[in-house]
Amino acid sequence: MLRRRYPVLVFLMTIFLFSPSLFGGMNSMTKAIVKKGELRLFFAHPLDKKKIRHFTLPNPHREIYDFKEMRLAHSRVPLGLGNNVRIAQNNSNTVRVVIENQKPFNPTAYQPLFSKGTYHISLPKNSAYIQKGHSSVQQGYAKPQVKQNIRKSHTEVIVIDAGHGGHDSGAIAGGKREKDLVLAISRKVVKQLKKRGFPVYLTRSSDRFLKLHERTRIADRKDAKVFISIHANSIVKSKRDKMHGIETFFLQNTRDERSQRIAARENEAVLKGTDRVSKNVIIDSVLNGPKIVESNKLAIDIHKRMMANAKTLYRDVRDGGVRHAPFYVLVGASRPSVLIEVGYISHSKERKRLFSAEYQNLLAKGIAEGIENYLRNRRREIDL
Ligand SMILES: [Zn+2]
Repeated sequence: MLRRRYPVLVFLMTIFLFSPSLFGGMNSMTKAIVKKGELRLFFAHPLDKKKIRHFTLPNPHREIYDFKEMRLAHSRVPLGLGNNVRIAQNNSNTVRVVIENQKPFNPTAYQPLFSKGTYHISLPKNSAYIQKGHSSVQQGYAKPQVKQNIRKSHTEVIVIDAGHGGHDSGAIAGGKREKDLVLAISRKVVKQLKKRGFPVYLTRSSDRFLKLHERTRIADRKDAKVFISIHANSIVKSKRDKMHGIETFFLQNTRDERSQRIAARENEAVLKGTDRVSKNVIIDSVLNGPKIVESNKLAIDIHKRMMANAKTLYRDVRDGGVRHAPFYVLVGASRPSVLIEVGYISHSKERKRLFSAEYQNLLAKGIAEGIENYLRNRRREIDL
């Protein structure tokens, strides 16, 4: 039911939130990256330096830059700049940038001569700062010997969501249940990611039902960089032995009927009794629209590696492609998020594969490699 209303609401919210008449005179911070030992901030319009207030606070030492008449281009605080660099909407018209360091340091801050829409602030160079920092963007200024320490383990938190659970079995075919399959694969993905040094959390590690907000809550709490929901597909009897293969989805509305059908099926259980939450979910989806681009990239990386791994064992695995569909479990997540349909359990041959540990391991390995590739490509630049 909500599915039909959704595009209209999103449209209205977009007008409300981004209407220039409401925020006339406001500038917005669109991007923050760390490059050549500097924090580089990007703005939608030329920055008026008179609207910057710089001050420090002790214990621990903090350099604070307040940008007045400024909004973050997106509702979420940028993730991945490290614990020592924080950017937030401090109040309705001030964006605050905080750089923390154990000792006082004198940052130089300037507006490059020919790009008035950017602002650069130098970051402290001492290794104590670098080691304490949590972000991959450290790459830009970490000394080589420190870099090596960082490389061993990653700091990007990943959340794996095993679909369905408890009274919600998901698809059932040939006496097999989607909820059991996706939990088994999710566990293997966790194992693969841990092996690669990533902190990783599973939304459910047993056969229990989770409400929509419970699935995304852990990702918010742990400040996850990536959210992956794992599912298996199924189709009506008449098409049973025709449809098979791997499909990877990211969030977006679609007119494609098949994608809509899959989303409707996956949304059904997740939406039950979530009226209050669904409202927030819609708002979130508006505010996090820009994550769509990142989610698309993530989906491509994951899909590529899943297919490559699956084909090492079965050359006939069908490539269902990377597609978009309005999955609610992805709407609530304010980070690059992907939903994977690992295969069709309604297809007898594919079902047999899906329930074999060997095939599950290949898929899990593919998913982990895809995430790893995506994060590697993302490390240099962090969008707001
Ligand atoms: Zn499902």
